[in-house]
Amino acid sequence: MTNDLIARGLAAASDTDVVDVGRGVLATSGALLKGSLFAGGKPALVVADDRTWAAAGHAVHDSLVAAGVDVLDPMIFPGHPVLYAALDNCDIVRERLAASGALGVAVGSGTINDLVKLASGQLGQQYAVVGTAASMDGYSGFGAPMSSEGVKVTMPCPAPLVVIIDLDVAAAAPSAMVASGYGDLSAKIPGGADWILSDAVGLDPIDPLAWELVQSGVLEALSQPDALAAGDPDAYAGLVSGLVLSGLAMQVYRGTRPGSGAEHYFSHLWELDHLGGDWDPPLSHGGKVAIGTLAMSAFYERFLARDLAALDIDAAVAGWAPWDLVEADIRSRFTGALADHAVAETKVKYVDGAGLRGRLQTFVDGWADLRPRITAQLVPAKTLQGMLRSAGAPATPEDIGLTAQDVRATFPRAMYYRSRYTVLDLAREAAWFDELVDEVFAPGGLWT
Ligand SMILES: [Zn+2]
Repeated sequence: MTNDLIARGLAAASDTDVVDVGRGVLATSGALLKGSLFAGGKPALVVADDRTWAAAGHAVHDSLVAAGVDVLDPMIFPGHPVLYAALDNCDIVRERLAASGALGVAVGSGTINDLVKLASGQLGQQYAVVGTAASMDGYSGFGAPMSSEGVKVTMPCPAPLVVIIDLDVAAAAPSAMVASGYGDLSAKIPGGADWILSDAVGLDPIDPLAWELVQSGVLEALSQPDALAAGDPDAYAGLVSGLVLSGLAMQVYRGTRPGSGAEHYFSHLWELDHLGGDWDPPLSHGGKVAIGTLAMSAFYERFLARDLAALDIDAAVAGWAPWDLVEADIRSRFTGALADHAVAETKVKYVDGAGLRGRLQTFVDGWADLRPRITAQLVPAKTLQGMLRSAGAPATPEDIGLTAQDVRATFPRAMYYRSRYTVLDLAREAAWFDELVDEVFAPGGLWT
């Protein structure tokens, strides 16, 4: 079923034509690349870091040579992978590609892929990625996240033409990597619920294929956390496919909505604070996402414990904060460029009293249909916490160096951080936001 889904995703995806996920596929990677990326006869430049060169880069390089591709001396970044893709490293890759006329083959799990993706995109040429860990869903996604002036921005650039992931390599990667991928995939649970809500008020209509690609295999892919933590290669098939499918869904949708909701904004904000950046290895993207996912799962539980169909819309509209108060609240919670960013993003989804009345009426009228859909989409926070823990992923704020109070303080910031509409916005519009956050952190809650 997964292969069929990948085939349908590839047929509709804007950039990626070939996906090869399986055990031992590194050995045939050269022939696969010769028939796809290098069909035009251009030379190949393999880009890796010390670790990924050892894990897979060398084998890819040899396989390309054996397949008769003209292969340049590899580009191997020394030491640990850098935490954030840096533009000067991208410039180095781009200049090497431009000077040699080669097409890039990124061998790595995150930063290396982002560097080659952006450099190739800037040159208007295609590239391939050979993933080395089941660590995140960016392999098959477009855009390269970069940190710039205190805000995490995603630089526009196409996704790879070819994605190759050898499950034996992924299973042998450091355990923190699979924990990250597991956390990133768990985000599709509350993130999907956010998408349902946004669709209901016409803001981000659900694309049926993108939804199916990202959602249909999530629970199965997350069903073997113990085997993943134990490094069983066969258990990796579902997780790796799920991560690849998430990237394809974003290509099909031409946006990141299929892959992320409010849970990712917790993670982005902590990334901007360089949370765990000095750890060895640095705290992963998916590790932060895991805590955002649990926070949002717990929030959804408190939200669903109330009856939205019985909401007093008149009272909600009467108590609705005018924009200048909202802006003041945002500026009290952020500083510098991030404050301006949050103001601009929140303004996009802010509505006046009449707009609020219409939005809330839509939810109240549709709640009998929406409530069971959202309930079915979610996994209980306690259950998800146990699954994340089994996979070796963070399950408490302390696991990522925070307190429950820190996570609590991130809730309003996550709401304001992006224009994307989530349950946090609906809760604020219903005048429930502060109470629900209090309930998440009340005695007997997930982390108290
Ligand atoms: Zn993510």
